[in-house]
Amino acid sequence: MIKDPSVVIIGSGPGGFYVAEAITKKLNSDIDIIDRLPTPFGLIRSGVAPDHQNTKKIIARYTNTAKKEQIRFFGNIEIGRDFSIEELRNIYDVVILATGLELDKKLEIKGSDLKGVFGSAEFVGWYNGHPDYVNLDPNLNTNNVVVIGNGNVAIDIVRILSKTPQEMTESDIPDYALKAINQSPIKKTYIVGRRGPVQAKFTNVELRELGSLKNCNPEINIKDLPKEIDENFSDRDKRLIEKNLETLRNFSMLSNKSKEKKINFIFFHKPIEIIGDEKVNAIKFEKVQLENSQLKETGEFMTINCGLVITAIGHQPKQIQGFEVSNSVVKNSNGKIDRGFYAVGWIKRGPTGVIATNKADGELVVDLISKEFKTQTKDGRKSLIEIIKSKNLTATSFEDWEKIDSCEKKNAMDLAPRKKILSIKEMLNICKI
Ligand code: NAP
Repeated sequence: MIKDPSVVIIGSGPGGFYVAEAITKKLNSDIDIIDRLPTPFGLIRSGVAPDHQNTKKIIARYTNTAKKEQIRFFGNIEIGRDFSIEELRNIYDVVILATGLELDKKLEIKGSDLKGVFGSAEFVGWYNGHPDYVNLDPNLNTNNVVVIGNGNVAIDIVRILSKTPQEMTESDIPDYALKAINQSPIKKTYIVGRRGPVQAKFTNVELRELGSLKNCNPEINIKDLPKEIDENFSDRDKRLIEKNLETLRNFSMLSNKSKEKKINFIFFHKPIEIIGDEKVNAIKFEKVQLENSQLKETGEFMTINCGLVITAIGHQPKQIQGFEVSNSVVKNSNGKIDRGFYAVGWIKRGPTGVIATNKADGELVVDLISKEFKTQTKDGRKSLIEIIKSKNLTATSFEDWEKIDSCEKKNAMDLAPRKKILSIKEMLNICKI
């Protein structure tokens, strides 16, 4: 049978799996999915919060895709280290970039390189057991933590730092992170936005959850909340913003002030300096006003003493030879980087939307492939396997992942869904069994 073009997808997160699924529905291509970790699923495994197990159920759908005849998973293969993009483009008709945005956007202010300042990708990776960050060892021996940013990642971080051990029993947070958080004296976590509650990017379900934590109350100054929304928004956006404002108003009226921990919302404050000698001691903000969507400085300052600062201000891609980056995404036109070279997910459009937003990216790429190629011209998988052998690389298969998965599930304590394997070496040892 004549095959459709050979395809390799770099990255096995939601972007990678939705495009793989979309291709299987329209084309009889061989589709290989490469990931630098021995395990698949990218941000679903190590970005989605460990206490949000329902969100991780999407893995069942990706598993169905991975088990289709056409698909093969090659884990523990890193593009930029083991293979170049050029090598892949030489052996496959179609190369699809689905690597996401792995790095933190840097907060460009004085003191941001002090000890005790972390980006959200590192900190979230740490409490999610990502092999790159298990040794991050953030010092949580502080009463106050400041989280910068008003998106859902900031909300995830303040929630994880504020939950009781009982609230985490059904999570897959690694023991070291759970222990460090539980033993820490953290009493107050500040979540600071440079703009206001109307402009905040968090979604209502995530925001609302902060109002029902067992030992933590959100705090907010009611004066920070506008009585009405006077900017031009669509009806839909207005409804969403009004919901958030209502939730924040409810927070300001919470009667149970006796809870030990607090999450303090501060709006309209722009970080200007992180203060400390070797490590962070405080962070200084300037109060700002919004005028015609622009931040205007007021000359009023505020300092918060804290031993830990986490920036949750967005992401940027790792630079790999073979593509150009512009505005923190790969230079592309509607998903096309070049002939036979496409992008999906955050690396294509930036860190926006929900998991299912990736579906549309995938469908777009199938149309591009169908327009540009008729049949397979490069043998893809056959060459990939030969080169893996010749380079003496150890690639993991989906069956290997299933061994790791069942080992993690078997080792789980009490109500936890799994006990994550934390090192690549240990994962590869399990694969050998
Ligand atoms: P985000 O939603 O874009 O939020 C980033 C925040 O950082 C914004 O408040 C932004 O403020 C602020 N910021 C940017 N640069 C700054 C600077 N220099 N100084 C101070 N503040 C700065 O990004 P995210 O929270 O990383 O989330 C990424 C995506 O993942 C989003 O689509 C999010 O919804 C999704 N996500 C979803 C969930 C969930 O559904 N449970 C969980 C986690 C993540 P401005 O608005 O002023 O730029």
